[in-house]
Amino acid sequence: MTSLSPGQTIGILGDGQLGRMMAIAAAELGFKTHIYGQEEGSPAAQVANTSTIADYADKEALRRFARAVDAVTLEFENIPTKTLEFLEPLVPVRPGKKILEITQDRHLEKSFVNSLGVPTAPFANVESLEELQKAVERIGTPAILKTRRDGYDGKGQFKISSATEIEQAWKEIGEKPAILEGFVPFELEISVIVARGVHGDIQAYDPVENRHKNHILDITLAPANILSTVTNHALGLAGKIAENLDLVGLVAVEMFVARDGDVLVNELAPRPHNSGHWTIEGCTTSQFRQSIRAAAGLKLGSAQRHSNAVMRNLIGDDVDHWQDILDHPDMSLHLYGKAEARKGRKMGHVTRLFPLNTPPKI
Ligand code: AMP
Repeated sequence: MTSLSPGQTIGILGDGQLGRMMAIAAAELGFKTHIYGQEEGSPAAQVANTSTIADYADKEALRRFARAVDAVTLEFENIPTKTLEFLEPLVPVRPGKKILEITQDRHLEKSFVNSLGVPTAPFANVESLEELQKAVERIGTPAILKTRRDGYDGKGQFKISSATEIEQAWKEIGEKPAILEGFVPFELEISVIVARGVHGDIQAYDPVENRHKNHILDITLAPANILSTVTNHALGLAGKIAENLDLVGLVAVEMFVARDGDVLVNELAPRPHNSGHWTIEGCTTSQFRQSIRAAAGLKLGSAQRHSNAVMRNLIGDDVDHWQDILDHPDMSLHLYGKAEARKGRKMGHVTRLFPLNTPPKI
């Protein structure tokens, strides 16, 4: 398997903040980047060498893109799989189409995870109101109805607290194919990001705790305050998932930790993840550099954490405080170059490091 050399070009599908931080990491390693996205002046295009603005179904634009790059990766898991199918014979695509097929569909994703013997919340496939009624009878309430596809940051979800809400839930999610999931009374939410290289080498970042506000990630604490047995268990589950996906790239595994230390997998994202932004300052190799090394077919770097960290997202008009943040010399500010601070929009983040023997504080 050939690897890329500095000076060659990595194509990135998607043009948001993850693509931006991937492109910056690629530049640090001497690579050029070419963004394929939808928006003029996007966060990623602002820092890349070249960009294509075209639909993901535009075969002519995709063919030109494939010719202009030496490997392709992605920053967004909802890239149509047909796009990857078109690109794969033309250029190495890492991670590939098969992984996206699984991670774009909550039912396939949870079934895959369970097939490895890795537990999730109980779930049922739901394609009609009748099936939803049966699923609620089987799984009980409270439960969460989630569209199978295209959900993020709590969108396409409805919590069913009692059977009287079944019809409303079905309407609210748009009467689309869905899964019903048992509600997990978790103690905390954690995530593990695992990288896997072309030769099967694996590097995993320590589990971190994620706290959400209005369904959007608010704060990540690195490392998560969990027993070492839970840490090792979570790392083992995430590594098993990466290997069985035959992944080349990154997978973020979101998990629930129950009061008794039980770990259930909630969701997979085959790309750098918001809960890994702290690795830019806190680890030997950031998640972004790691994703570029994997895409380029290079050996992975160490995911060793050299500091504890807190990462806070700047959502909507939080970003107005950028000057106050800069008044704290120990805070690292990252802004994504988005012009308009709409409500709920991720505008940037800020990271603060702590010594390894000091618990990260908010
Ligand atoms: P998701 O889009 O699946 O990541 O869900 C968004 C958020 O909703 C999660 O981060 C949890 O806080 C919450 N959530 C999702 N599924 C469940 C569940 N089965 N039980 C309890 N909380 C959940």
